[in-house]
Amino acid sequence: LEPAYQFMVRVRVPGGVATPEQWLVIDDLANTYGNQTIKLTTRQAFQMHGILKWNMKTSMKGINDALMDTLAACGDVNRNVMCNPNPDQSELHAEVHEWSKELSDYLSPRTKAYHEIWLDGEKVVDSKENNETEPMYGDVYLPRKFKIGVAVPPSNDVDIFSQDLGFIAVLEDGNLQGFNISVGGGMGMTHGDTNTYPQLGRVIGFCKPEQITDVAEKIITIQRDYGNRSERKYARFKYTIDSRGIDWLKNELTERLGWQLEEAHDFHFDHNGDRYGWVKGTKNRWNFTLFIQNGRIQDKPDYQLMTGLREIAKIHTGDFRLTANQNLVIGNVTSQKKKQIMELIEEYGLSDGKQQSALRRNSMACVAFPTCGLAMAESERYLPSLIEKLETLLEEEGLRDEEIIIRMSGCPNGCSRAALGEIGFIGKAPGKYNMYLGAGFAGQRLSKLYRESIGEKEILETLQPIIQHYAKERLDGEHFGDFVVRKEYVKAVISGTDFHD
Ligand code: SF4
Repeated sequence: LEPAYQFMVRVRVPGGVATPEQWLVIDDLANTYGNQTIKLTTRQAFQMHGILKWNMKTSMKGINDALMDTLAACGDVNRNVMCNPNPDQSELHAEVHEWSKELSDYLSPRTKAYHEIWLDGEKVVDSKENNETEPMYGDVYLPRKFKIGVAVPPSNDVDIFSQDLGFIAVLEDGNLQGFNISVGGGMGMTHGDTNTYPQLGRVIGFCKPEQITDVAEKIITIQRDYGNRSERKYARFKYTIDSRGIDWLKNELTERLGWQLEEAHDFHFDHNGDRYGWVKGTKNRWNFTLFIQNGRIQDKPDYQLMTGLREIAKIHTGDFRLTANQNLVIGNVTSQKKKQIMELIEEYGLSDGKQQSALRRNSMACVAFPTCGLAMAESERYLPSLIEKLETLLEEEGLRDEEIIIRMSGCPNGCSRAALGEIGFIGKAPGKYNMYLGAGFAGQRLSKLYRESIGEKEILETLQPIIQHYAKERLDGEHFGDFVVRKEYVKAVISGTDFHD
């Protein structure tokens, strides 16, 4: 008899776009083999939890039959390429999304082992005998995972500066000219080791759309060749750059490309959240962004979210777009289908977030307990109830509709990008969190440690006077993160190397 080992399966969704047919497959697998829930991740992927070992192969085959896979959803390779779902400019979205897909395909590992193990592919006894080579990754792959995102200003929903490599679309008169390139972002750190820190990407230049795969490949090979392979916690690309300098990286890149990046173009981000509800796109298509608390799709007695989405997927002819904030866009809805979809949204009471406080709409939590083996504290299961208490404080001060970004991670890996929350929590032990304040509303500045290892009582006692102060003395349009910096609760952190100062 074998113990009932259970697994999490993460399905790669390049740019976060899935068809209704793919949605139905994920829904079916989650209900048949998983724990009857789907998690939309902070990197626009699907996660299914609780899949028993002996159901793994059937699940993987189902995923593959729906033209999806889990290849490079984990491991020391390029991960799921993120992309702005941009519901209000769908033609442009389609163009930018195509580039993100091209990047994803181009940077995928070539290994056949995946098919051999999961899909009954022909057995590869010796990879060299079978000429199995990884032209870019080489024999030993990368020193650590590598993350790429593509943003379309003014939305920074993909948190472009948290990515190892970010492409920022540059538009002129609505046409895509190319991409500014940001390098060396990353959220993870290790508690107690100040040589580790979250870092923001730095913009090093501009390239044309057709040059992005070349740029990405050469940057990845630089990290492959120079990344730290002796100490895993210092192995991310941000440390490779910070230890050698940004000018070293630019020179190395120019040498490998054989041509020089152009000067970066001006750009401006004004937020990193989602825009909820119905938005009209081009070609008479509509997009509806749903609020999904912490990306968890499940049925509860008073909220049949999973069933409602299944019924929509059965009639929908457009697509589903997973957002980087763990929400969901029912995208490319035709005028003919809109009425039917609206009826289903109403029948199942699906939330466009407008009934929620602005704090909750701007909240994000990673999975943490009980399914993440690295968790030090609760996150997804706890943040909603903490927000409820904070809502009371905010309502007392008339701030229910004030957009404040709040994020929680169960450990310093930072999957929910908590270091970019205007209020951020990173778990230290059960019930204890480091509290960070002062990140920028558009994801352009990191937060800073304000209180260490505190529980709920102290969190609320600490935040109450700051919230009261903010209500009384904020400037017109001033965001919470900017306020706490201006009032010197914390120092502004624009480089991770200052994060622990
Ligand atoms: Fe990621 Fe840590 Fe949260 Fe697990 S507990 S999901 S590793 S941040």
